[in-house]
Amino acid sequence: MPVKPSEKEEEYFAKMQFEKKKKIEEEKHKKLAATEKSRLRELHFMRCPKCGMELIEIDYKGIRIDKCSDCEGIWLDSGELDRVSKIEKSGLDKLFSVFK
Ligand SMILES: [Zn+2]
Repeated sequence: MPVKPSEKEEEYFAKMQFEKKKKIEEEKHKKLAATEKSRLRELHFMRCPKCGMELIEIDYKGIRIDKCSDCEGIWLDSGELDRVSKIEKSGLDKLFSVFK
């Protein structure tokens, strides 16, 4: 007659099974998050964060400025506000005249 495994062994194997399945689910979640992230990026890339219409990008003195083609909001990439703030007034007037 086969020897019945002790309860401790059953718990151990159940735990192993759980850990294995949990890992598989965690991998699925990671993939899902990455897929969702790239889907959102595709959906929102060069779109106005307020109205969702296309952004028009101009390059002014090495600063990339995006202006919405609909609501006319102006958007800056990371670090660009700092650079824009260092442009003297006459330079800023020239910059904004680009959009008029
Ligand atoms: Zn807009």
